[in-house]
This record gives sequence, C-alpha cells and structure tokens, in this order.
Amino acid sequence: MEKHLYKGLGYYTFDILAPYKSLRHGVFTRSGPPELGGELTFSFRPDIPNSQVLNSLKMAEEALGLGRSVFVMQTHSANIYVQEPTDPYSPRSPEDLIYGYDALVTKPGRTLLIKLADCQGILLFHPPSEVIALVHSGWRGSKQNILGQTAAFLKEKMDIKPEELLAAVSPSLGPCCAEFINYKTEMPEEFWPYLNPANNHFDFWSITQKQLTGAGLRPHNIELAKICTKCQPEFYSYRRGESGRFAFLAGVV
Ligand SMILES: [Zn+2]
Repeated sequence: MEKHLYKGLGYYTFDILAPYKSLRHGVFTRSGPPELGGELTFSFRPDIPNSQVLNSLKMAEEALGLGRSVFVMQTHSANIYVQEPTDPYSPRSPEDLIYGYDALVTKPGRTLLIKLADCQGILLFHPPSEVIALVHSGWRGSKQNILGQTAAFLKEKMDIKPEELLAAVSPSLGPCCAEFINYKTEMPEEFWPYLNPANNHFDFWSITQKQLTGAGLRPHNIELAKICTKCQPEFYSYRRGESGRFAFLAGVV
C-alpha cells in the first residue's frame, strides 16, 4: 500500500491496483482538514452533525477525482446491491439511505463507498469489464461468506471469471486484537483452525484469503493491507469504543 495526502486528508491505495489508471480508489484515514476539526467521518449518527459527514464525502470524492458516491445502510447481511450507472440514487441524508446491503456492485461511471471501523472492506476489480464490487465484511459477513457470494454473483450475472478478479483488503481488526471469547457459539467450526487458543484471537485476514481463493481468485491477485485498526489509531475502531467510521471509496472514470 501507498499513503497519500491531499489537503489534510490521508488515504491509502493498493499496489496491486496501481497499474489501472481508470480505477480510482482510496482507504481514508480519520485525518481531515482543519476546517473539519481535523477529522473525517462517513457515517450519519445522532452524535455527529450531518454537515461533518457531507463535507467528508465531498472532500474524499474530490481527493480521488470521483463523482458523488453511492452507499447504503450496512447491516452485516450478505445482500448484494447493484448500482446501475443511470440510476440517480446518491444519498446525502440518513433518510435517503436504502437499507440492508453489504456488497455494492457497479460499472464505470459511478463511485461506491463503504463505511468501516474494524470490519474488512474488500474491493473486487475486474480489469476486462472494469466492473467493481465493494464489500463490507465483519465477522458476521465472514460467517456468511459474503465474499464468496459476491464472486459467485459476478460470475453468474455478469459473466466475470473469478480468476480474472483482483482483490484489495482494507485495514481491519487483526489477529492481534480479534478476541472472541464466545467463539464456540459464535463461530462455525470451519473457522476454528484460525483460532489462537492461547488468547481466543481469530485470524480473519487468513479467513478472507481462504474465502477469496475458495471463490476462484488467484493468490497473487489478492493484496491484504494487514494493518490492524484497533492497533493503528489513524483509523476508527469500534473495539476502541469509537463511533466514527472511515471509508473505502472506488470508482472507474
Ligand atoms: Zn491489533
């Protein structure tokens, strides 16, 4: 990954996606410009003024040279939302949000955004068609294998071969911090090989790697940030008790 700065905003891009100039993407840190109090945040919440979110959106889109982004109310589901480029949906208030999707798919011309704090954000990019998918996957998403379901959807509905997909996995809760003391009831047995029994920590980065290759992606087409959001304070962390959300944006221009 490479870090960039734009007018006080910090964001990371993935090396694996760098050759594709029409694809613009970035995982934004919480750092914002002074006029936003130094903080970006991307989720409408009662304790955060809407104007803070709207200005964060505007500045992040500007930093990447992308148009207005499309996002939804994420609910740890495995539901897939397809944004047609001609559909005008582009929420700018909590009331506008469509509800209950955690994978977003679009074609060139539209910007997708997912909100994160410890969960994984995964960008799937198909260079031949320039179709993108942005997936929000916390442990509930991993349990449902939303990544595998999204790759299968792309194959069935859009004729996209999984072996042609590139995947970039955002900073998220690492094996250093992903403690699940109730794992015997919360986690399926297929995840138990990824448990460190000494401290009840799971390695969701490896689970994601396995799910992506299981869906047909090639290992050399996968880049994992391997930055833990709880350890690295430049990102928001739910487990650190924060209500802010950082964002992963992507679009093909
Ligand atoms: Zn950590």
